[in-house]
Amino acid sequence: MQRRTFLNAAAGAAVLGTLGAAAARAASPARVVVVGGGYGGATAARYLRTWSHGAIDVTLVEPNPALISCPLSNLVIGGSRRMEDITLSYDALASRHGVRIVRDTATAIDPAARTVRLAGGGTLPYDRLVLSPGIDMLSGEIPGLAQPGGDEILHAWKAGPQTAALHRQLAAMRDGGVYAITVPLAPYRCPPGPYERACQVAHYFSRHKPRSKVLILDANPDITSKAALFRQVWATQYKGMVEYRPQYNTVDVDPATRTLKFEVQDDERADVINVLPPQRAGAIAVSAGLATANGRWCEVDFLTFESLAVPNIHVLGDAIQIAPQMPKSGHMANQHGKVAAAAIVALLSGQAPNPAPLYNNTCYSFTSDREAVHIASVHRYDATQKTMVTVPGSGGLSTAPNALEGRYAQAWAQAIWADMLG
Ligand SMILES: Cc1cc2nc3c(=O)[nH]c(=O)nc-3n(C[C@H](O)[C@H](O)[C@H](O)COP(=O)(O)OP(=O)(O)OC[C@H]3O[C@@H](n4cnc5c(N)ncnc54)[C@H](O)[C@@H]3O)c2cc1C
Repeated sequence: MQRRTFLNAAAGAAVLGTLGAAAARAASPARVVVVGGGYGGATAARYLRTWSHGAIDVTLVEPNPALISCPLSNLVIGGSRRMEDITLSYDALASRHGVRIVRDTATAIDPAARTVRLAGGGTLPYDRLVLSPGIDMLSGEIPGLAQPGGDEILHAWKAGPQTAALHRQLAAMRDGGVYAITVPLAPYRCPPGPYERACQVAHYFSRHKPRSKVLILDANPDITSKAALFRQVWATQYKGMVEYRPQYNTVDVDPATRTLKFEVQDDERADVINVLPPQRAGAIAVSAGLATANGRWCEVDFLTFESLAVPNIHVLGDAIQIAPQMPKSGHMANQHGKVAAAAIVALLSGQAPNPAPLYNNTCYSFTSDREAVHIASVHRYDATQKTMVTVPGSGGLSTAPNALEGRYAQAWAQAIWADMLG
């Protein structure tokens, strides 16, 4: 039987009212374990505590001591922000919201026993499990990455040491050199991210190495997000510096000669190579049998984010098989976290989850150190199709990069960090 006995005396009256008196007497707090303290997981942990009025025991498992934000990390690569600017503390999640933080890695899930095994040797029992492990790279699809020197070919697509290292590679490059970034076929984490990165590198070159070149080698048939805006910026602000080539599917790299190989076209040499391999859901979701879409992404019920494959496990963020027009973004992962938290609070108190959730997404891209553009959308649940669809007429797109939107983009980051981490 589902454990519905989570509410203790501290629980909110609205939810408590739905429990029988006998159940309430027998109550012991329900336990939710959240694996992954990124944009989806940190949000879910915080809102599970907030919306259960502290009645659910929430344990967050995360190996990193702090959250290093992918949003704004391209500006660190371009030299206008520092790692400190995108490094965020988990302290308030624990001190203000009462989330128990376990600094460890989840290595296995036993859905029958409802336990999570940790690399450190411990085991955590759960009533409901939330997984937001982000992505892993399918590096095996680019075999040269495993060759000697392959570790110098960075993706920097998980913000952290590679972010700082990629900036150092650019700083060490000769003026007149070539930086090449490869883009995998969609879906991948953050559709506009590679093109924002190209802008940031071009901005850095325009200040420090003006004879250098940015080459974007994209497996997709066209720029996958904000296409006209990026094209305009490259043709004006970074004229002659940025070259975009569609339908360039990278199949290998030779680290010794710094050469990229493609499915169709001739090889390309570059001084700094930034390969974004194809991606899939984080390993823990795959090993738990949740990645039911092509073995790569996890299919979920969009009302609750419960896995379609394994009950009592909710998957959020980049790891899921997205609905049409739903980007793999931090903003979206934050929305997933809230919808899942509300649904879990409802389910654990015997209530039905909201049958008509609505999510929004706003994604800013910096085109220089201070100008930005945005794209926005609103998504609603469609009960017939059992998926999320975009609301006709909703959303919007910038007309041109501008400094005001740059300030909004910075404010967006501050606001979402405060929302996730308290
Ligand atoms: C360069 C770049 C720029 C971006 N810019 C934007 C932007 O401007 N706006 C936007 O909305 N989005 C942006 N994104 C996308 C955004 O970063 C992701 O969509 C978002 O981080 C997804 O959240 P998540 O919770 O799925 O994964 P993450 O935020 O990556 O969190 C996953 C967490 O899980 C942990 N983890 C993984 N496996 C385990 C395990 N087994 N045990 C315990 N913990 C585990 C990891 O350590 C990590 O902390 C950008 C991405 C990149 C790469």
